[in-house]
Amino acid sequence: MKELVLAGNPNAGKTTLFNELTGARQSVGNWPGVTVEKKQGKFTYQDENWVVTDLPGTYSLSPYSMEEKIAGAYIVEQRPEVVVNIIDASNLERNLYLTLQLLELQQPTVIAMNMMDIVDRWKIELDIKKLATKLGVPIVPISASRSEGLEELRSAIAEVSKKPSLGMGNPVTFSEDIEATIAKLMKEYQLDEKESRSRWQAIRVIEEDLDVCASLGVEKLHLYDHERTEMTHLRYRYIHDLIDRVMKRPERFESMTEKADKILMHPWFGLPIFGFFMYMVFTMTFTFGGWLAGPVESLFGWVSVSVDAILTQLGVAEWMISLLTDGVISGVGGVLVFLPNIAFLFLALSVLEDSGYMARVAFLMDRFMRKIGLSGKAFIPLLMGFGCSVPAVMATRSLESDRDRKAAMMMIPFMSCGARMPIYLLFASVFFPGKEALVTFFLYFLGVLVAVLMGTIFKDTLFKGSGDPFIMEMPTYHIPTMKTVGRSVWEKVEDYIVRAGTVLLAASVVLWGLLNFNMQGMTEMVNSFGAQLGHMIAPIFAPMGFGNWESSLSLVTGIMAKEAIVSNIAIIFGMGEAAGEAALNGNMSGMLTGIQQAFPLAAAFSFLIFSLLYTPCLATLTVIKRETNSWKWMFFSAGYTFAVAWVYAVIGYGLAMKFSVLVSAAVLAFGTMGMIAFRTRDKRRKEEVEWEQL
Ligand code: GDP
Ligand code: MG
Repeated sequence: MKELVLAGNPNAGKTTLFNELTGARQSVGNWPGVTVEKKQGKFTYQDENWVVTDLPGTYSLSPYSMEEKIAGAYIVEQRPEVVVNIIDASNLERNLYLTLQLLELQQPTVIAMNMMDIVDRWKIELDIKKLATKLGVPIVPISASRSEGLEELRSAIAEVSKKPSLGMGNPVTFSEDIEATIAKLMKEYQLDEKESRSRWQAIRVIEEDLDVCASLGVEKLHLYDHERTEMTHLRYRYIHDLIDRVMKRPERFESMTEKADKILMHPWFGLPIFGFFMYMVFTMTFTFGGWLAGPVESLFGWVSVSVDAILTQLGVAEWMISLLTDGVISGVGGVLVFLPNIAFLFLALSVLEDSGYMARVAFLMDRFMRKIGLSGKAFIPLLMGFGCSVPAVMATRSLESDRDRKAAMMMIPFMSCGARMPIYLLFASVFFPGKEALVTFFLYFLGVLVAVLMGTIFKDTLFKGSGDPFIMEMPTYHIPTMKTVGRSVWEKVEDYIVRAGTVLLAASVVLWGLLNFNMQGMTEMVNSFGAQLGHMIAPIFAPMGFGNWESSLSLVTGIMAKEAIVSNIAIIFGMGEAAGEAALNGNMSGMLTGIQQAFPLAAAFSFLIFSLLYTPCLATLTVIKRETNSWKWMFFSAGYTFAVAWVYAVIGYGLAMKFSVLVSAAVLAFGTMGMIAFRTRDKRRKEEVEWEQL
């Protein structure tokens, strides 16, 4: 089997190409850090089997971050038959730097010139033949998202693997000084001139690749600072000249993106505009969900009644029927009811992401985060936390320092993930009809504020240090493709369904058991294990206004998975109803009255705040343990989020008892902002963020 490695900048389209080549369904993202672990797939071309590795996206092979280390080391050690360097043709300047470093590795290389559709649309003239001659490697123009040029690419790959001499070269001429230093180093460390990687190793010593230095036994560092700077400079100059020769772009064109960014990236209005977009997303989520809620509820009601009827006919034991209808169907169904809303939310977020807008939000946040002393780069994992904390925690690998990584991991759980949405959907529609979107917006916003506040506290205590600069090119805006958006939505919907069928199913069965049994055997719900357990811990929650055993119990099981809170509520309040009648109305309506009776309005408000902020789910805790390799951080994360949630929910309840919910929400949000401002008053530096837009 032959190996092919995909290397390229973040956002060059690696994952899209990987999926096209292998037929896999990896998630495509519009910001760096999405592909952190390398992924592998297979394909066959002309009776030859290939294994394809999708490396994490990097701007260079200089080992400044974990991703860059992984990418560089992998190619050197693995020596794949072919390296496919995928380039975003609409961003050549930035992309070619990595290309030059890849060519230094002297491996058989093919360049896949991606995004040719954009190049065509912009009427950019790109002389690919000339570029290929200059670089000494074959270049195939493709458009990964439109599946164009893939056949040509496969054939070029096959060809290069058969004639490995083809296209190896080192196009940049370094100065004599540098060449002399390279020669000296090769001699000093006895690097064989005939070995293709020797020259590369010498260059890496100059660039202070600590791994290479260690393997060669280099002891003194900082000997070649001058050479290193000059090398970088020469590479950039070479790229600049090269582009002048092979590319002609019309003047007018970038203006569309630029015009849009004048408004969307405005230093003052940028973030409020983002807030407005999110508000619109929530409004549409509720409106759209509202249309489908009726039919979906009736469906579950009908399923429940039919299962009940059929099983009774068959003479199945009553407890078994109860387990299936009151437990499984209520618990799993209670969460699945929200699938249409959730699907719409994912759809809206995918569109924002794929259009290139979300990458800009990361920028806007970077400006803000750096002012308060946090790493802007950390905001990408935080944004991913809106989807699910688990991949978000893994994405912190893209942060350079261990300190920033841990700080980000401690902040991520406050970002409101998709699993918390069903709780908002349920509670907002019961308690705040007409204001659902506003309430949801507030919760998301509060989550971000609390995350930032905690971040500033960590920066002064556990993880001292200042934020690293964050440089990233912004993708040009484009109309999202059905394929990418569809794939991304389906992936998340699938995940939601799978979770409902596994974790939530298990949780529902366990809860049903807890609610129907005690030491004496089967019993009424009020005397069950579940009620006893709920009563035992209820005092913890009493100061938040919902000291009833039902909600206490559901919060405990919510640690298994946040959606389980909704399952539990559906089961508990669904069972409270006279079963037959509830089923006839669809389980929902009976359940809704139950909830309304159990929570005063102020308590519903604090319950939402608590659910937003408290202890992350087991899956998140597990991944924090794995990524920090320490139980200590896992328990810390579980405990301190609980404490923070408790404080916020108690204050929220107190406020909501005195004032309207709207006022209470405003006080909480502004209060948190005030604390952030206070904590960072002397840290706000004048320096503006240097962000590059090519
Ligand atoms: P990666 O970070 O290198 O893995 O890049 P992705 O595969 O995640 O792609 C980044 C973005 O570029 C996604 O929004 C893709 O839909 C988009 N994209 C990929 N290939 C093309 C292409 O050929 N043309 C256009 N217009 N967009 C593309
Ligand atoms: Mg990717």
